[in-house]
Amino acid sequence: MKNIAIIGAGISGLFLANLLEKNDFFSYKIFEKKNFLDLKDGYGIQLSVNSINLLNLIGFKNMNASDIYFPKKVNFFEAKNLKKICDIDLAQFNFENNRYTTLKRSKLIEFLLKNIPKDKIILNSDLTDIKCKEKLKLYFGDNKLEEFNYLVAADGVYSKAKEILFNKAGSPKYFNSIAIRGNINNFNDSDISIYLGPNFHFVIYPINQNNEYNFISIIRKELIDNEFKNKEFFRDKELINNLINHISSKSDLNLVDIVKEIKCFPIFVSKNIKIPDNKNIFLTGDAFYSFPPSFAQGASQSIEGANEIFNDLKDKSSNYYKIRTSKTKKINNRSSINHFAFHLSNPFNTFIRNFILKKLTKNKKFLENYLGSIYNI
Ligand SMILES: Cc1cc2nc3c(=O)[nH]c(=O)nc-3n(C[C@H](O)[C@H](O)[C@H](O)COP(=O)(O)OP(=O)(O)OC[C@H]3O[C@@H](n4cnc5c(N)ncnc54)[C@H](O)[C@@H]3O)c2cc1C
Repeated sequence: MKNIAIIGAGISGLFLANLLEKNDFFSYKIFEKKNFLDLKDGYGIQLSVNSINLLNLIGFKNMNASDIYFPKKVNFFEAKNLKKICDIDLAQFNFENNRYTTLKRSKLIEFLLKNIPKDKIILNSDLTDIKCKEKLKLYFGDNKLEEFNYLVAADGVYSKAKEILFNKAGSPKYFNSIAIRGNINNFNDSDISIYLGPNFHFVIYPINQNNEYNFISIIRKELIDNEFKNKEFFRDKELINNLINHISSKSDLNLVDIVKEIKCFPIFVSKNIKIPDNKNIFLTGDAFYSFPPSFAQGASQSIEGANEIFNDLKDKSSNYYKIRTSKTKKINNRSSINHFAFHLSNPFNTFIRNFILKKLTKNKKFLENYLGSIYNI
């Protein structure tokens, strides 16, 4: 029996573990740096039909109905006067039980944990080194050494595994943007609302049937080296207040009053795609590639990637990196285009952008190519 080390108990690592649980040919262990998995965090996540399709194979369709939401549309607004620009009908990409879904990230993690025996998740295990011998030797913070046939690095955007394998070239870069996240109660829109402003955008969407909404804003902000490396900098109340006041002052929505439990963090993205020389090492999710967060595909791609790794292991094929590279390039292009278009500031450019958005969001062929080709697997 071949054994697999999964580094990271996040979305990608846990989804792969669910697939491995149903297979007798592999044993696995998950090594997680943290000493507990947070099942209380209230922030939201959007999952498109490509990942819902895969999640349904492991029972997601039986989730408690009150814990999830099925938005039917994405509405685009001008942030300053709340004038609607256009909308996209998301339901056109739904298929039977596979529907565009929003929920709390913690609910997704709770669901993914349900079928994984507790003793297979080793908490407090911070990967520190990898040696590629006949087997893969993995070293952890407490001088622990374990040997495996395969390594799946699912340790997120700041992947230690990627850094060990590729040194500096494997570390992500600051995307000149800060994210602020928060919760809203009782908002007046039942779909996904994207508000476009100069050098920022924010998104509000329901995360369950209890009138709880997720707020996420991406704000362009250049920082000097020491600032984006310093975690304390992003916990500073004054910075958080300044950011929410800044976007609130440029919008007719009084965000200062309605957004609660605000947190802020820097956005880091991958510099480029890196493929390990060792055929038994897989990078997945954000560890493989971390996208600009303007296409809401990070979690869905983490799930798709884990599924492709499972297929490679099961079929003894070597298609993973070919498939992943091609899809990653497509999504990265779309995320970068969205980010650029969402943040335009010159009034003439925003007028042209809005005109183009109105046309494209009603063009079936365009939508099929831009979204449908990503949502269909
Ligand atoms: C602002 C923002 C909004 C987003 N919104 C969406 C959205 O709406 N929809 C969407 O699809 N995606 C979204 N994403 C992206 C999504 O959250 C990520 O792509 C996804 O969580 C990545 O999953 P993962 O499994 O690769 O990593 P993660 O879920 O980050 O898990 C990585 C795990 O590895 C562990 N770990 C780290 N280092 C080590 C180590 N050395 N040893 C052991 N364990 C380690 C971590 O503790 C963590 O548990 C958003 C991202 C951002 C920044």
